[in-house]
Amino acid sequence: MSDDSSRSPSGYATNVLECSACGNECEHFVRIELITESEKYGGNQPYRITECQICGHEDEERIGMGG
Ligand SMILES: [Zn+2]
Repeated sequence: MSDDSSRSPSGYATNVLECSACGNECEHFVRIELITESEKYGGNQPYRITECQICGHEDEERIGMGG
């Protein structure tokens, strides 16, 4: 299949990042998740989850507004 003209916004992406756990600069899976942070906000907050492909460590970084 050749499908290079369409991109899925919810598909996996990878970035080369430095892992905060193992210290290696390597590919990380990057995905967006909605996490219920606090009920007082009345909704979920988007987080960027990065997963190290060497040690599997996941980091969460809030990308929502505020803070
Ligand atoms: Zn790692």
